[in-house]
Amino acid sequence: MFDTLSDRLGTALAGLRGKGRLSEADIDATAREIRIALLEADVALPVVRAFIARIKERAKGAEVSQALNPAQQVVKIVNEELIAVLGGETRRIALAKEPPSVIMLAGLQGSGKTTLAGKLARWLKGQGHTPLLVACDLQRPNAVNQLQIVGERAGVTTFAPEPGNGVGDPVDVARRGVAHARDKMYDIVIVDTAGRLGVDAELMQQASDIRDAVRPDETLFVVDAMIGQDAVATAEAFRDGVGFSGVVLTKLDGDARGGAALSVREVTGQPILFASNGEKLEDFDVFHPDRMASRILGMGDLLTLIEQAEQVFDAEKAQATADKIGSGELTLEDFLDQMLAIRKMGPIGNILGMLPGANSAQMKEALAQVDDKQLDKLQAIIRGMTPAERENPKIINGSRRLRIANGSGVTVSDVNDLVNRFFEARKQMKAMAGQFGFGGGGRRQS
Ligand code: GDP
Repeated sequence: MFDTLSDRLGTALAGLRGKGRLSEADIDATAREIRIALLEADVALPVVRAFIARIKERAKGAEVSQALNPAQQVVKIVNEELIAVLGGETRRIALAKEPPSVIMLAGLQGSGKTTLAGKLARWLKGQGHTPLLVACDLQRPNAVNQLQIVGERAGVTTFAPEPGNGVGDPVDVARRGVAHARDKMYDIVIVDTAGRLGVDAELMQQASDIRDAVRPDETLFVVDAMIGQDAVATAEAFRDGVGFSGVVLTKLDGDARGGAALSVREVTGQPILFASNGEKLEDFDVFHPDRMASRILGMGDLLTLIEQAEQVFDAEKAQATADKIGSGELTLEDFLDQMLAIRKMGPIGNILGMLPGANSAQMKEALAQVDDKQLDKLQAIIRGMTPAERENPKIINGSRRLRIANGSGVTVSDVNDLVNRFFEARKQMKAMAGQFGFGGGGRRQS
């Protein structure tokens, strides 16, 4: 994400490393490079100007610090200013005191509204809410159906106009959807609205009419981060035409340069609430300005990684596994469990990409080598084994190896490889566990 920007900022700041004192000329040169990096990332010009002015002013006036050298101090300032430009504090979604809360989605066609409706519903459901999706995009053929499909995937109900009623009136559907939610005790209503390929008056009017009819607690402007600075003009049009209380950036998994993310808050005055980074429902996160800033500066995003890990890992199970590693009793079944848990967090490359140093050249090269297909293969092989074989792969004889290989579409040597490597890894893990004093006999640190 924002790779070029990260690289360029990294280079700009690396130039300061090792300097005992920073002259004004040093600061000016660095500021110039940061400015170019931001412009190349398609950040809106007024935002760039204000950003650079603040960096310069703060860097020149910086107190001599005991803890940080001058270069580190500039990195700290840039980090803080990035956080500020991205919105400062994380802004939580605002829900009504009296349910149902209404969240309305607005944005151009193709920005990812319908997909977001599913993601948001899934996320809210995970927090114990009972969301209802309301299909008010009656313009795009198939939009209602698409919302129903994402609703099903998210495990939530979709309120849609009855088929056969002609085009229908989206304002009426929105109103009836909210009434239905109130009746049936849904506590959050997510209203998907129609978009157009470009901003037009009719679209704005329709969105405004829906807004007036359902009086949303949040109106979220959904914007494709890949469109760069155009996002700013679109955001301004929606701010003036409909008004919104928060922004959702989508397609951050693409090769967005960062312009939309860094401009939209400053230009519209409204915070970014969520970030979408993939087509699957789980590719979705609360937007944290501080974490995004640290990713842009190549400091990794350990907090997000840890949170994701917490969601998929079961602490009891993890302890049990650690104990088994320590006593050398780990089985292929445990290994499969672990692998499935990690993979729930998304493609391995994405997970590794959140680690500090992920922006370095070596790490990028290593990431390019990571292949989820290899893991699919390992999973297929283990799945082809019987439970007894997973417990004790020693019992797998030659003919069984052939069966497993045929059943999982790999060669016998792939199966042999897995079994051999498993024994080797188990031995090493046991030795390491002994060295670090964890695992074995259910010891627990508390
Ligand atoms: P809408 O017209 O605003 O409702 O947009 P859709 O939800 O139909 O999304 C348009 C296209 O973008 C679809 O093909 C989605 O699968 C895709 N899409 C949505 N969000 C993301 C995202 O975060 N990343 C990627 N790569 N694709 C996305």
